[in-house]
Amino acid sequence: MKKTKTLEIYLKDKKYKIFLGNELIDKIDIILNCHLKNRKVVILYDKILKKQLNVLKFSLSKITSKLVTIEINSGEKSKSLSNYIKICEKVIKTSINRESVVLAFGGGVIGDLAGFVSSTLLRGINFIQIPTTLLSQVDSSIGGKTGINSAYGKNLIGTFHQPVAVLSDVNLLHTLNKREVLSGYAEIVKHSIIKDKIFFEWLEKNGSYIINGDNDLRIEAIFNSCKIKKSIVQEDEFEKGNRALLNLGHTFGHAIEGYLNYDGTVLHGEAVSVGIIMAFKLSIKKGYCSETDLQRVTKHFNKVGLPTSIKYLTNKITNPLKLWKIMQNDKKMQNDHLKFILPECIGKSKVFTEIKKSEVLTLLNEELKT
Ligand code: NAD
Repeated sequence: MKKTKTLEIYLKDKKYKIFLGNELIDKIDIILNCHLKNRKVVILYDKILKKQLNVLKFSLSKITSKLVTIEINSGEKSKSLSNYIKICEKVIKTSINRESVVLAFGGGVIGDLAGFVSSTLLRGINFIQIPTTLLSQVDSSIGGKTGINSAYGKNLIGTFHQPVAVLSDVNLLHTLNKREVLSGYAEIVKHSIIKDKIFFEWLEKNGSYIINGDNDLRIEAIFNSCKIKKSIVQEDEFEKGNRALLNLGHTFGHAIEGYLNYDGTVLHGEAVSVGIIMAFKLSIKKGYCSETDLQRVTKHFNKVGLPTSIKYLTNKITNPLKLWKIMQNDKKMQNDHLKFILPECIGKSKVFTEIKKSEVLTLLNEELKT
């Protein structure tokens, strides 16, 4: 069995480790002993993970007798204000104290929700991320963004609350369906396009094996992806500047999801994958980037099965102006300008704030014309 890989995130006044490897939930009693021994541990878990929960509970029972589990329904709807309140009350009812620890066992939905719950309970208690989707292992479990959705948009209610540790067990990924794997893979490619051309080249060679379930290559890909996110988050924990780079493809991606009222028919990573291609197209229009790089990324997406156009995703998106309006409501508006993260080439992206409405509308019209 391969050794566990670790990566440490250093922030201004805290640091924490990401543990990455095989069968880690079986050994949580050893790996995270210092955070969990004899403490009350409240596991908030995705309903779909009932079987895996038993393994986790067995391991934890070796170091604490104060174990509580709270089941959460799968899906984005669980990130609601009403559900947040319900879960807080359930956790409080178990008589937690400031030493208690919340454990998020699930994908990004559970991580965001459990993170927000733990950041507000008793003015903030410790929490640990055990991400169970590829997307959450490479992205949402690290960096400390927590949140739930408002009637006005996604993730509009939230905090920055870093976990005390992240335990990413690649064995958990084998029950994910292919679409969910691809959705997470899109975020891995995104990280390479932002900052690391050599990693992108490695993904061109290994992408299909990663998607098809090779554990060792998955560990390598998740590790490199987390390294990129780590370097950006360490520089700008509270997204005052360059952390926005992580939103490459997201201004278009969120607009696509928003247009469909986040009904789940398009997965986040699928929307981001189309968003990345659109970001390349906008960048080419502005003269920042070459056509060759767009062709290379498109070829890779086609090869692994990621979508490259809105029309390929859905036929429900037809109105460019409506898409534009949704973009304007996104958090990335700054002083009336839309902030776009655009690639200058594979491996280097930048934040641009001077993009005109007409330029974006031209692109949206081209994208949606029949
Ligand atoms: P998710 O948590 O909804 O998981 C996707 C699906 O996979 C769900 O149906 C879930 O039940 C299922 N699932 C989870 N683990 C599984 C497993 N091991 N085997 C089989 N099925 C499993 O979604 P996600 O894609 O992990 O994350 C998306 C969420 O993350 C969104 O709410 C998004 O806003 C958020 N997000 C947050 C950040 C951040 O920095 N905090 C970053 C990116 C995305």
